[in-house]
Amino acid sequence: MPRLPRFDVLFEPVPIGPVTAPNRFYCVPHASGMTNSMPRMRAALRGMKAEGGWGVVCTGYVSVHPTADDSPLPYATLWDDNDIRSHALMTDAVHEHGALAGIELWHGGGSVSNKTSRLPPLSPSGVSWMATHVGFMGTQRSKAMDKTDIRNLLHWQAEAALKAKRAGFDIVYVYAGMGYLPYEFLLPEWNTRSDEYGGCVANRVRIVRELLAATHDAVGDTCAVALRISLEELRARPSECAASEAHEVVELLADVPDLWDVKMDSSPTDCAPSRFTAEGSHEPVIEFVKRTTKKPVVGVGRFTSPDTMVSQIKRGVLDLIGAARPSIADPFLPRKINEGREQDIRECIGCNICISSWHDSVPIRCTQNPTVGEEWRRAWHPERFEAAGSKSAVLIVGGGPAGLECALTLGRRGYQVSLAEAAEQFGGRLRFETTLPGLATWGRVLDWRLGQLQHLDNVTLYAGNRLTVDDILGLEHQRIVIATGARWTRMLYSTLELPVKSLEGGNVFTPDDVAAGTHIEGPIAVFDFDNYYMGGVLAEHLARSASRVTYITPAGHASAWTIMTNEQPQVHRALASARIGLKTLSRVTGISGDAVTLANLFTGEEQQLPCKSLIIVGARTARNELYHSLMQRRADWGPAGISSVDCIGDSLAPGAIAHAVHNGHRFARELDQAAGHEIYRRDSPILLSPPLLYAAGRHEAPAS
Ligand code: ADP
Ligand code: SF4
Repeated sequence: MPRLPRFDVLFEPVPIGPVTAPNRFYCVPHASGMTNSMPRMRAALRGMKAEGGWGVVCTGYVSVHPTADDSPLPYATLWDDNDIRSHALMTDAVHEHGALAGIELWHGGGSVSNKTSRLPPLSPSGVSWMATHVGFMGTQRSKAMDKTDIRNLLHWQAEAALKAKRAGFDIVYVYAGMGYLPYEFLLPEWNTRSDEYGGCVANRVRIVRELLAATHDAVGDTCAVALRISLEELRARPSECAASEAHEVVELLADVPDLWDVKMDSSPTDCAPSRFTAEGSHEPVIEFVKRTTKKPVVGVGRFTSPDTMVSQIKRGVLDLIGAARPSIADPFLPRKINEGREQDIRECIGCNICISSWHDSVPIRCTQNPTVGEEWRRAWHPERFEAAGSKSAVLIVGGGPAGLECALTLGRRGYQVSLAEAAEQFGGRLRFETTLPGLATWGRVLDWRLGQLQHLDNVTLYAGNRLTVDDILGLEHQRIVIATGARWTRMLYSTLELPVKSLEGGNVFTPDDVAAGTHIEGPIAVFDFDNYYMGGVLAEHLARSASRVTYITPAGHASAWTIMTNEQPQVHRALASARIGLKTLSRVTGISGDAVTLANLFTGEEQQLPCKSLIIVGARTARNELYHSLMQRRADWGPAGISSVDCIGDSLAPGAIAHAVHNGHRFARELDQAAGHEIYRRDSPILLSPPLLYAAGRHEAPAS
């Protein structure tokens, strides 16, 4: 199908300094969890986006020098020739599809602790980031930069730019965002200098101007020089000569960079979760930039609708549609628009599981796109599938995320698939969870799969069919896949940090009871040691109708794991605004008719909290009775024509939706393939220089 004419504007080329983007789809720098030790995986990840039609594809953050060492977080480096070769794999992969490759050169300043390099971190005035979460804390503070350090910084940026050019990059960044070094110069809390780099805005912006000049001088003849800058804080600060300090900074630098890449200041506002923030949330902060510069402007906003993208261009907000998450959820988004298939776009749900992988220091993962991060190591292409390896008919029992993903992927491979779901509606856990505060957007996991399944004649959906073992034995399918999900338990939490001892009683409930519509009498205590979203979101949900809700957790924060998905600050704000009581570092040990007993996690000191009902959001257990019953009936498989029975998703191992989708996808990819897929191809660093041997305190090159 041809693309709709109203989207033509998205496919116009855009000159950026000495290079030209082939269209307006711009994959901005984003973390991939892949360091230089995974260069092939990284190249395949980025190359896939270029194949999917993104006109510009950027790296994640790339350190210019060992004084910028973000370990244990997975950052990339451009320090030596080995690093050049490592990145060249990516530029080759991106150029192969006619896209431009951009590199985000980065210095972390006082936000990093140099845990590996052991070099003193550098910052404008010796101020360091004092994180509130242990995962981001460090024990090393920064050194105030002197003039030599400033000269060094400019030199490192220029050197790294030259290396970037040799690696084949077309766009080279100066990164003044998100608390990193050049940004630190912009804010007076970080920058208390009394020399020409501190004080008024013109002085504070000087280092950014000099970094841009150094980059231009080094590579500006052939590469575009981009400035990525966070404007949220600056926009909130009044200026004597402009509408805000952000306006003043942009006016001072207006046409110095070849491209403005504008963003927010902290990960939770920059990469805001859909639970709390709608699409296009950056616009009120960055909308003025394009009026101030003649250079192209790129910005993000979790854009997945082509109409929204066109509106951003037509209204003069942006020149290039920036995306990180939408390009992760669907690397082929631009192509689908170009081919008139915009209804096929797998829209990002804004859950931020992708960001959690960076915080976890592992390769990127995505709830919507199970193939992300697997392009090289498992050779999964998001749009291409191996033909079926047999004529087997497959029966999938359970139409939640795992069953739906498995059915879709098997269907695309050409298998005959029947998908049976007990409920009248497909969706599994999503049926309830998408009704909870802020989670409606997650319904895209279900909607996209059901929409795609409609195109497949070889997949038949049966809603309202609760299958028994005898039903399955009579249905004449060769392959049986059980995707029956998991259930929440009433287990409590021991001092050994384990789920133990089920707490039974008429006033003890789980999220499954709430999902089933059971009346829960208030006041209510929600005891959460699952630590992801369910405890917090359920407390919010119940607070809409109950007289009083108290949220209790043995962790130090509410929904503690959501620090990984950028949700935690907003979770606390949401609980506070719903007037939900908060008890941290506490275990529930029992319940009477009108109170729960809490014990302090460390001292054991007990406390009574008045409540009529307790909801335990703790351990989940696989709903796999059907699977085990089928395994016990092995003798009946032959006569029934069954050759295999497998379990996938939560009924195999309960977890986040992303894991169920990945597991359902993996099963479908690997059906009738050679065994041994648990061991994927493992990437390794590219080392051209001779490896160094350590011997008796001396570093020696090997003899040959
Ligand atoms: P997952 O996340 O692994 O996909 P879910 O809990 O979201 O798991 O979905 C499991 C689905 O399986 C639910 O919709 C449930 O109704 C369905 N189900 C459970 N038992 C049966 C059964 N015997 N027959 C058909 N569907 C079932
Ligand atoms: Fe979007 Fe979630 Fe995928 Fe990230 S993990 S790209 S937020 S769907």
